[in-house]
Amino acid sequence: MNGATRGHDPDCIFCKIVAGKIPSRRVYEDEDLFAFHDIHPWAPVHFLVIPKLHIPSMAQLDADDAALLGRLMVRIPQLALQEGCIPYPEGGYRIVTNTGVQGGQEVHHLHFHVMGGPRPWARG
Ligand code: AMP
Ligand code: ZN
Repeated sequence: MNGATRGHDPDCIFCKIVAGKIPSRRVYEDEDLFAFHDIHPWAPVHFLVIPKLHIPSMAQLDADDAALLGRLMVRIPQLALQEGCIPYPEGGYRIVTNTGVQGGQEVHHLHFHVMGGPRPWARG
């Protein structure tokens, strides 16, 4: 895999989205996190939540990332409702993180898919 291991990778599409160099439909932003709609949604609600820091995948996480990943995870329920997912348990949502080529990862900047809304979905 090319590019920076951590920090900012000027060749990474999601780093470019965070920097505003590629347009996105933003869902949420704070100091550490960014969320935006997936360009090819599988479900009526489908957005991605990412750390702004370029971390290629789950495989590069270590104990120092626990607080960052914790903040990311606890933000998801709020964003899911904000974006139109019906509340648990009747509604809900799916969180997916593909890791590595055999895990189906295409963009190598850690991201969490959040999918929800009425079925059927296009995929999943
Ligand atoms: P993955 O296969 O888990 O790496 O998923 C990458 C996701 O990024 C796919 O669902 C793509 O549709 C999505 N994606 C790729 N480029 C963009 C973009 N410019 N804006 C929004 N979503 C994107
Ligand atoms: Zn990146």
